[in-house]
Amino acid sequence: MILRLKDSVSDIQATSLAQAIQAILVLEPEGWVLVASAKVKEVPAAAAGLVKEAIPTATDLQLASRTYREETRSVQLHKDVVVGGNSGNTVMIAGPCSVESREQLHAAATFVDGLGIKMLRGGCYKPRTSPYTFQGLGEEGLQLLADMRKEFGMNVVTEVRDATHVDTVIEYTDVIQIGAKAMYDHGILKAAGASRKPVLLKRGFGTTLQELAQAAEFILSGGNPNVMLCERGIRTFETKTRFTLDLCGVAWLQEHTNLPVILDPSHAMGYRYGVPALTRACAAMGIDGLIIETHPDPDVALSDSAQQLTFKQFEEMYQSVEPILAAVGRKMV
Ligand code: PEP
Ligand code: MN
Repeated sequence: MILRLKDSVSDIQATSLAQAIQAILVLEPEGWVLVASAKVKEVPAAAAGLVKEAIPTATDLQLASRTYREETRSVQLHKDVVVGGNSGNTVMIAGPCSVESREQLHAAATFVDGLGIKMLRGGCYKPRTSPYTFQGLGEEGLQLLADMRKEFGMNVVTEVRDATHVDTVIEYTDVIQIGAKAMYDHGILKAAGASRKPVLLKRGFGTTLQELAQAAEFILSGGNPNVMLCERGIRTFETKTRFTLDLCGVAWLQEHTNLPVILDPSHAMGYRYGVPALTRACAAMGIDGLIIETHPDPDVALSDSAQQLTFKQFEEMYQSVEPILAAVGRKMV
């Protein structure tokens, strides 16, 4: 249950009430709210008189639910880029899977900037499936991203692999990416909740929609309202494609959660050939954003080589998506 507190309730009163009723106190853009378990169905006696509105929820999908907040939350990713709210924007986040070198990242940033894209992606701490493959440049890579931000005026999105370097990533990045393998890490979720930077929370490939939404609740209840969900493919019985992009799940997230939804067709497909058409399918769903991998020379990429688009493929795809977005009342930013 969510309790919106009256404006007259002081910070001290709110804090002691939270303790008394075992609820989490969260400062939302409109003021203090208390979030108790969804099992609580009536306003606790201790809170009577201090509550302006009580919102019972069916499950622990609470702060992220449309029951609580009908409009999609608005998240500012860059001075010129907002998603959600009534913006009608679909943000494009593009760049290589991994930051590999200054030359590689600079080439990608130059290309992406040339299309007017404001959000550059690139991983520096890679959660690889094998320990014998490229693990990322670490802080050196973060510094390269910072250099691109400075040169091109773009903002950067980079992922946190584990809690050991979460503070370093948060310090450097503009958008904290929590990857599919990291989304259950409570150290990361808590650190992201303590920050105010936007968070791109990816769905684990064996994660239900409810579990994804509840992982987002850890960040929201930590006090960070700037959360976006990312569908990047789940594991099914099918092995011909890397994963299966769950567009039904996207419709569910759009219907039931108030968080912007970003789609990642690159990791879902796993192969270049399918990514442009999948991207168009995503655009037709009226989504809030896309994150797509592109590399100056995908064949020699140190991670996710098969799925990264060439610049030529990316540009053709980019142009073909704009009219589809327009047809569903959206514009690319
Ligand atoms: C990535 O974005 O490069 C990545 C590792 O994604 P995911 O966490 O979805 O596998
Ligand atoms: Mn990748």
